[in-house]
Amino acid sequence: MLQKLSIIFWVSVVIWLGILSGYWFVFWSSQEIYTSQNTLKITNEARFVSDLWRTVYLDNEELRSVLLVFRGSDNIKWYKIHSVCNTHSEYKFSYRDIHFFLLEYLDEHCENSTVALKNQDIIISRSLGTLSFSSRNKEFSVLLDMDDAQLSWYDHELARRLRWIGVFRNYNQNITLQTLPNHFKKYQALEIGYMRRLIWDIQEWRQKKYISPVPGYHIEKQANKVPNAGRPYREWYTDGVHHGWDIDAPLWTPIVALDDGIIVRVRDGFKADDFREIVYWSDVSYEQQLENLDILRWNQVWHKTLKGEVIFYSHLDEVNPGLQDGMYIERGSYIGTVGITGVPGTWYEDFHLHFDVKIPPFTPGREGTYTLMEYMKWPWSWKWQSRQDVYSLIDTMFEK
Ligand SMILES: [Zn+2]
Repeated sequence: MLQKLSIIFWVSVVIWLGILSGYWFVFWSSQEIYTSQNTLKITNEARFVSDLWRTVYLDNEELRSVLLVFRGSDNIKWYKIHSVCNTHSEYKFSYRDIHFFLLEYLDEHCENSTVALKNQDIIISRSLGTLSFSSRNKEFSVLLDMDDAQLSWYDHELARRLRWIGVFRNYNQNITLQTLPNHFKKYQALEIGYMRRLIWDIQEWRQKKYISPVPGYHIEKQANKVPNAGRPYREWYTDGVHHGWDIDAPLWTPIVALDDGIIVRVRDGFKADDFREIVYWSDVSYEQQLENLDILRWNQVWHKTLKGEVIFYSHLDEVNPGLQDGMYIERGSYIGTVGITGVPGTWYEDFHLHFDVKIPPFTPGREGTYTLMEYMKWPWSWKWQSRQDVYSLIDTMFEK
């Protein structure tokens, strides 16, 4: 009996050792094979060819997937796509040594443009590709620099392209080599639809009048508070003219956006020392005069309305800390509070909002590229028109 048991014991010891060493041998040898192949793979295995849909629109469910094309051996089918953003990737199909992967962006805000294939934990450097992103706000920043005629022309052009794409039949939701042309056309059609809806939104919105940026306070017909009013006491370091509008209101009265639009500049952090930046010479350049005026307005928020006009709200005491360049704001959203930042003289207590309405030149080819100095140079609304004309035009611009 004991003999039998010891035989069973020794047999099982031998079996276990065999299994363990076998595993070890297999493990060890596969490691070797894996490492040596891997070294080869890094240099030769996969290469990024292109992204078939050219732009990823992060804020649109149907337009935030992109079909990526890689070239390489059959193995790369099992690889994953690497992106810093939150994405989902899927191998779709192959044609010879060309492989198609669908990549979907799951996060509206991550715009890291680099993608690559990844074999386990190794990113294949030759497979690095760069994508381009867009969003409603980015497209707006270009479209808002077009006048009504340019927008209509662009809309017609898009409609023409849509007809040219023609009817696409999409019998199968699966992306295969056979359905690829249909999917490509579908993507283009969706993209055109996306752009046209933005244009229509702008066209419709442009019919509206602005609201008062200080709720409860009206735009006043007062000689010294409207565009073109004289500012003779500043003539020796500015152009001596009032470009915008003043609305008197108590300190810390909330200021809101007078229209929907895109934030183009936020300037905060006024200190009394900042007045030293003003250049006091009677012969300062026009640019320097504009810079001086900018110092006299200090805490400011600038935004481009859907009409394409640039508005700035100035002398703010508080600036809404949530505002950032490129952000979309709706009319009525909080901009900051009434203050006197940028107004020289500590005795000064005429708290008011000063805001300008700058008229765009709508220069073809310049859409989305204007600089801050150019915005400053854009003429103010009703520049050099008589006071009576300005008074009578107020109701055409602002809601009562
Ligand atoms: Zn003013």
